[in-house]
Amino acid sequence: MRRISIFGATGSIGQNTVDLIRRSRDDYHVVALTGSQNIPQLIKDAKALRAEVAVTSDPARLVELRDGLAGSGVEAAAGDGALIEAAARPADWIMSAIVGAAGLRPGLEALKHGTVLALANKESLVTAGPLLMSEAKRLGSTVLPVDSEHSAVFQALVGEDMSSVERIIITASGGAFRDHPLSALDHVTVDEASNHPNWDMGQRITIDSASMFNKAMELIETKEFFGVRPDQIETIIHPESLIHALVGFNDGALMAHVGPHDMRHAIGFALNWPKRKALPVQRLDLAQIGQLNFRAPEAARYPALLIAQKVMEAGGLTGAVFNAAKERALDGFLAGACSFTDMARIVDRVVDVMLSNEGLQNATITLDSVDEADAIARALTGEEIAKRE
Ligand code: NDP
Ligand code: MG
Repeated sequence: MRRISIFGATGSIGQNTVDLIRRSRDDYHVVALTGSQNIPQLIKDAKALRAEVAVTSDPARLVELRDGLAGSGVEAAAGDGALIEAAARPADWIMSAIVGAAGLRPGLEALKHGTVLALANKESLVTAGPLLMSEAKRLGSTVLPVDSEHSAVFQALVGEDMSSVERIIITASGGAFRDHPLSALDHVTVDEASNHPNWDMGQRITIDSASMFNKAMELIETKEFFGVRPDQIETIIHPESLIHALVGFNDGALMAHVGPHDMRHAIGFALNWPKRKALPVQRLDLAQIGQLNFRAPEAARYPALLIAQKVMEAGGLTGAVFNAAKERALDGFLAGACSFTDMARIVDRVVDVMLSNEGLQNATITLDSVDEADAIARALTGEEIAKRE
C-alpha cells in the first residue's frame, strides 16, 4: 500500500485529493492529514481515511480536534512543530496544499525523507524556488507540479529534451474582470472579485486570478520549476481555460495540453505518475465546445504580469518580497483598507523599494533569509496600505 499524506487536506486542493484517495481507499495508507480552522472536516476525513495523525496548525484548536477524534485511533496534534513532525513521518507521496508561505517548511521537511512531493503550494517556488529545487536534487527526491498550468507543461515535456524548448506559454482565463470596463476596476468589491469564470477554488486564489497576481506567481513558478529564462515565458488570455499551457519547440511545434477545469486531473496525474490511470473527470466534447479563443493580455488591465517580469529578472529574494507584499495587499483589500487596483500599485512600490537594496538579488536563499525578507516586505506593505486609508 502506498503511504500518503495531505498537507492542507481541508482546503480546495486538499478536498479534491481526499476525493481521489477515497475512491481507491484500499490502495493507500494515509499517514497524515493537516488543516487549520476547519476542524470538523479534518475530523471527518481523518476518521474516514483512518489516518495515523490529524494536525491543525492552530494550537488553540487542539482540544476540539482531540475530542472529535477520541476513540477513533487517529492521533491529534497541533502547531507548526507538529506539521513538521508529520512531514517527517515516512510516506511515499505527500500533497503540499497549504495556502501561503506556511507551506514551505513542511514541503522541505518532506523532501528530506525521500518522498515524492506533489506541489500545489506555489508560494514554495515563488519564495524559495532555488532552495526547494536544489534540496530536491541534493536529496534525490522528486517534486511534481500540481498547479494545472505546470502539470500541463510537465506532461507536454514527457520524453522531450529541455534544450529543444524555445518557450513556455501559460494560459490565463483573464479572471472575473476580463471584460470589465478598465475605468471601473478601482471600485470592484471583494464579492465581485471572488467569482471565477471557470474554476472553483479557494477565495484568495480566486481574487488573485482576478488581479492576475495568480498568473504572475505562475510565471515565477514556471521559471523556478523548469529552469527557463524569463524571456522564454509568455502569457496568453484564453477565456475557455481548456488549454492549460503550451510548450514551443525549436522545430516550430507547439504542444498544448487540453483538459477540463477540474483539479483532480492535475492532482491525479501527480498521484499516479509515472503512469496514467483513469480519473473521474469530464471528457471534453470538442464539437460542442466549437472554438477556443486567445488574446494578448492588456498591460493596463494586468499590471501584475509586468511586476512578475521584474521579479523574475531580479531573482534572489525578490520572489519572497513579491509574495509577502501580494499576500499583505490582499489582506488589505479583503479588510477594505485598499482598493482592488491599489494592490498592484502597492506591490510594485514595495518590490521597487526593496530592489533599491542591492543585497536582495544576491542574497542566499535560506529559510531564515526568506522569513526576514517576508517580514520586511509585509511591514512595508502595511505602511503603503496605511497611506491609502
Ligand atoms: P484553500 O484556502 O482552499 O486551503 C488551504 C489549506 O491550507 C486548508 O487546508 C487550510 O486549513 C490550510 N491552512 C491555512 N492556513 C494555514 C497555516 N497557516 N498553516 C497550515 N495550514 C494552513 O487553498 P487552495 O486549496 O485553493 O490552495 C492551496 C494551495 O494550492 C495554494 O498555494 C494555491 O495557490 C495552490 N493552488 C490551488 C489551486 C486550486 O484550484 N485551488 C490551483 C493551483 C494551485 P483550513 O481550511 O482548515 O483553515
Ligand atoms: Mg494555476
